[in-house]
Amino acid sequence: MIPDDARPAPIHPAFAAPNRYLAVLAHYGRELALTLDTGRIYELALDGAVTLLGVPAALLCSRPTATAPGRVLLAQGVDLVLGEALAALSPQTTRSHITLTMIFNAERPEIAPEWRALTELLPSDAAAVAADQGLQLLLTLPVEQEQPALLHLLAPPPPLLSPDALAALRLLLGQVSVAQRNARLYLQATAWAQRLTALQTAGAEIGATLHLASVLATAVQHAVELVGAGTGVLALWNPQGRVLTAAAAAYGPALLDTGSSTAGPGDGLAGAVVRDRRLLLRTAAEGAAALPALVAVPLLWQGDLLGVLEVTDQHPTRLFSAEDQSLLMLLGQHTAGAIANARLYERAQGRLHQLTVLQDTSRAIISQLDYDTILRTVLRNVSSLLGTQMGAVYVPDERDGVIAGRAVVGVSMAGALTPLLTRRDGPIERVLQAGKTVAIYDLPTVGPPTDTALPPDVRSLLAVPLISQGRVLGALCIYAPQPRHWSPVEAELLLVFASQAAHAMQNALLFERLRAEKATLTTTITSMSDGLVVTDAGGRIILANPVADALFAVPFTTSEGANLLALLARSPYSVDYRGGDPTGDLLNVVLGQGLPYRGEIDVRGPTERTLEFSFLPVTRSSYQITGGLAVFHDITELRRVNDLKSDFLSMVSHELRTPLTSIKGFVKLVLLGEVGPVTTAQRECLEVADREADRLSRLINDLLDISRIEAGTVTFTWETLAPAPLVAEVLTVLQPQAAEVRLTLMADLPPTLPPVRGDRQRIIQILTNLLGNAIKFTPPGGAVQVSAAADGAYLRVQVADTGIGISAPALAHIFDRFYQVDSSHARAHGGTGLGLAITRQLVEGHGGTIQVTSTPGAGTTVEFTLPLAEG
Ligand code: ADP
Repeated sequence: MIPDDARPAPIHPAFAAPNRYLAVLAHYGRELALTLDTGRIYELALDGAVTLLGVPAALLCSRPTATAPGRVLLAQGVDLVLGEALAALSPQTTRSHITLTMIFNAERPEIAPEWRALTELLPSDAAAVAADQGLQLLLTLPVEQEQPALLHLLAPPPPLLSPDALAALRLLLGQVSVAQRNARLYLQATAWAQRLTALQTAGAEIGATLHLASVLATAVQHAVELVGAGTGVLALWNPQGRVLTAAAAAYGPALLDTGSSTAGPGDGLAGAVVRDRRLLLRTAAEGAAALPALVAVPLLWQGDLLGVLEVTDQHPTRLFSAEDQSLLMLLGQHTAGAIANARLYERAQGRLHQLTVLQDTSRAIISQLDYDTILRTVLRNVSSLLGTQMGAVYVPDERDGVIAGRAVVGVSMAGALTPLLTRRDGPIERVLQAGKTVAIYDLPTVGPPTDTALPPDVRSLLAVPLISQGRVLGALCIYAPQPRHWSPVEAELLLVFASQAAHAMQNALLFERLRAEKATLTTTITSMSDGLVVTDAGGRIILANPVADALFAVPFTTSEGANLLALLARSPYSVDYRGGDPTGDLLNVVLGQGLPYRGEIDVRGPTERTLEFSFLPVTRSSYQITGGLAVFHDITELRRVNDLKSDFLSMVSHELRTPLTSIKGFVKLVLLGEVGPVTTAQRECLEVADREADRLSRLINDLLDISRIEAGTVTFTWETLAPAPLVAEVLTVLQPQAAEVRLTLMADLPPTLPPVRGDRQRIIQILTNLLGNAIKFTPPGGAVQVSAAADGAYLRVQVADTGIGISAPALAHIFDRFYQVDSSHARAHGGTGLGLAITRQLVEGHGGTIQVTSTPGAGTTVEFTLPLAEG
């Protein structure tokens, strides 16, 4: 109610002045313009009318219809019983009167509304109540046409209504009408804004998750709430199977309007939406075939249908407004976008999962070299990725090509080999033959009708070839328990796994072959009588045989990776290199520079042994050093026999020299005629005996030399020596011998030559041997020349002749003991075949080297080196 002090005083219609009406109208007009609240508008309407007409009582009620009576909206000064009676007035009663009052809104000639007697209109009890209050007359006016209401004004007689009052009342109700319309528009706008906000919230919530099930559940719930419906269901569309399947529901079961959880295009309203791709609507039907009101909207994303959203309302009068429909369409768009996102995410997640499994598989494969374990790992991982847990790997038998099973998962080997799968021209053979993917939707439909024996749970298969280096090694096959369409993506995935498995298979096969080869090698090495150790390029042990272990009492065989020489040095036996430790770092010499080492070692353990130790670089065809091979050959026995021989020689020579010296002495005595005259014939015989004794003496000396050298008992007296005088000395001694056979014997030395370090007597012996040979094997008229030059740390000496030369095959043996190219010729010159053997030993004893080059018929050159004296 409007407080008294806030409203103008009521106007008595009999005395009102026109400007009074204006003041009242201005007041209510202002108030009406300020409000958007319907209740307040009614209040002002009622109050304004009462003030303008100065009536004691008034009532606002909703307009009655044929089916529903009017309702009291607001009353002033009206008793409850009276109010109810007025509201209950029939439409006819009010309409006839209102027809009259239409003039308020139509611009037609005015017909004044009229007061009517209450007793004529109301039941008697109500009329009596009114009469008690002094109210006998009723004036009824319509307030607003859109939201119809009636204004009943009640007054005592006489019926007063001045034209000014009527005009003012008309203006007031016009203002009320405008205010009403404004309020309604405002309410509609705010309600729409609220629904849009709700839609926005729903959209945000639907899009907040990437989990498909939550997207669907949230969407259907919001759809129902947004339009205030009863239940909702969301079905997803499968374009391959052409079927809708209910996937989420709110406030009711997950059933489509067909009553089932699935529908095809054309089934029910949802199916019709699939066909038409637009919103479809059904109004509620009552009676026996009662049907709820229903809206179904398509969920469209970039032109593709993803599903259908249905909301229903059991309420018989429920109508889904155009506004509801727009909201549902908008929500549908949101939902379709969210579904697409969730699917994209799920696909990405799936891809990620596939990659993870693939990575795990690779890791498992790398750490495994067992062929069958690898295949089982691959089968297990890929079959679970494809969601079947069943599969097999087939390989063709190498001999007869018959298909054999190599690994199975989820099925028995016998089942995997069932004839339907492995028969001629069957799916597996096709994969093996053509090297192509084979996918079979439903196996029983492709086999001969009688041959349908399949392993339990096997209905469908996808098989791809296992190809490595262009060769089909086998077939990787996955089964499914029901008919299944295999997508190209699945086939591709299987191929990726197959290529991994194929490479692993290839590696495993290679490894098996390698293992077999290594086993053969190990057996060979183990059964060898020599000690043998194989190292890598860094000298680390790869392989050794037990003989090597036994020779040094060191565990070579079980010390893979240990340094060969370090391990050798740990031998509990005393290990000495004959002729001193190897010069330089042996590993570097052999494995770094690729120079083979050969030496002898004495091993003193429980028994004493001499071993020939060869350490050889192992190279690949590219001359890259890939490792080393150490061979320990036991030459103890050889050494012993050799030593015996040397001892024997030395003993024999000594024993021979003494009698020979006295034979020679006595022959000389007889020749000199000291023991009587000697005839010419006797002299000739004695001279032969003398020469032969000389030759024998030379032989004995040579034998003694060689045996001493081999026994290692030769000692050198080191001094610094100028080469030129030594050469001159030897030439002087040999000059007569050369002259005898008309040879030119000369030296070609530079004016200064650096001194050498050596044993004077031994160097003279070397030069004498070489020059002696040159003189012996050069025909008369030839030339023999000695030349020398410093070369680095050495003096290089050459003895060249123009003699008979040495053939290439003979050259290879020239330094062997007792070797003579043409023994008769050589012996005729008093040779023993030991000269060059001794010479080489002497040169090497000095730390030098010696070599011969020769051209048969043209001459021979022997070249040797001697170390220069230091400083
Ligand atoms: P010998 O005592 O027989 O000379 P050597 O060991 O000195 O023994 O030489 C071995 C053989 O090598 C000789 O018998 C000879 O056939 C051959 N020979 C050595 N030097 C020469 C040379 N300068 N020219 C040709 N043949 C040679």
